[in-house]
Amino acid sequence: MNVNNVSLDVVCGNPSQFPQSHLNEIAFAGKSNVGKSSLINALVNRKALARTSSQPGKTQTINFYNVEDKLYFVDLPGYGFAKVSKDLREKWGKFIESYLTKREQLKLVVLLVDIRHEPSENDKMMYDWICHYQKNVLVVATKADKIKRSQIQKQISLIRKTLQMDPNHIIIPFSAETKQGKDEIWEILDQWVLN
Ligand code: GDP
Repeated sequence: MNVNNVSLDVVCGNPSQFPQSHLNEIAFAGKSNVGKSSLINALVNRKALARTSSQPGKTQTINFYNVEDKLYFVDLPGYGFAKVSKDLREKWGKFIESYLTKREQLKLVVLLVDIRHEPSENDKMMYDWICHYQKNVLVVATKADKIKRSQIQKQISLIRKTLQMDPNHIIIPFSAETKQGKDEIWEILDQWVLN
């Protein structure tokens, strides 16, 4: 999709604020600092539309970005802050879960993992959750410019193995610096939006 118009339409602090809309939704999930804002900004050709890393303990919101009045990009709160209290973690879990279970408009969840590292338990939990709720998933391995090209396939295999990924699920290396992977990701998103 060629994106010129995009705006932050709705910011939700709880499920009652989810918008009533028929637009298809594509959600983005991943631990904080994985490069989620950078990916969203790259996909919509903007430098600073999506917020960059929020601070631990700050209000966690689910943000709905209207893309060309054709779909919503839904930015889920990043997980994995070591310092966050158990209470807040549980609240986060329930919030995300209510989003995953309530939205029929949700067509695809893009799960981001850092290409340099073995996925964490939280990443695995998120992947399993998405599959459990029978949502489609695309895994994006971020920060691909930070490793040698010759290492990319090895890391992709490690991520597949650690997440115990379904062989039918796709994983794409991406770099916000070089924009490697951007067109490939859009090709997949387009398939879900145009259907
Ligand atoms: P978020 O917390 O998941 O939204 O992560 P951000 O998009 O804010 O990125 C976290 C940090 O990683 C920032 O300093 C970004 O500049 C950096 N970053 C994100 N994506 C890339 C990438 O593809 N390559 C490199 N080299 N740095 C990146």
